[in-house]
Amino acid sequence: MPAKGNQPRVHTCWRPAVTAKCDGCGLEIEGGYDACQRLFQSRVSLETSDYRYARLHRLVVDCYCLQHPQQYCMSAKSLMAHLAGLCIAIEKNGEQKAYRMLQESLNGAPPLVKPPVPDAKGGYTIADVLAASNPSEYARRVHAWADHVWRAYQATWNWARDWLDRHPI
Ligand SMILES: [Zn+2]
Repeated sequence: MPAKGNQPRVHTCWRPAVTAKCDGCGLEIEGGYDACQRLFQSRVSLETSDYRYARLHRLVVDCYCLQHPQQYCMSAKSLMAHLAGLCIAIEKNGEQKAYRMLQESLNGAPPLVKPPVPDAKGGYTIADVLAASNPSEYARRVHAWADHVWRAYQATWNWARDWLDRHPI
């Protein structure tokens, strides 16, 4: 340890690295959830203006909402809407009739008890999807994202599957 007073005084501009995190999906981003939400909104507006991206809109919304359940899946009904929607995309090949039936089944006050949501929600986020440079890569990344989210929700798979089975096409 050098004696005090012998060292030149050096002013450094040291700052801690910015490691703000979205408390929903875990994305490291300055601004946390608010900044994550802005990324999502930018994606949604692209999807509504470009048909090549629009076909994946439903899946993108379901993935994002399931990764941010504090905001989008507060009720059992909203959790089921997104989780069963993801189930349809992954296990029923995105069958449009199944989506319609799901929507109808959730009209009114469906008798649902909300299961706990997982703490970890997959190692893939909206930021990974946004890194796509063309529509086919975008589609590939959205499906990878969907797989991550679906796996994270494994404990609730049967809750969603049973509901879909009870409301067949
Ligand atoms: Zn997030």
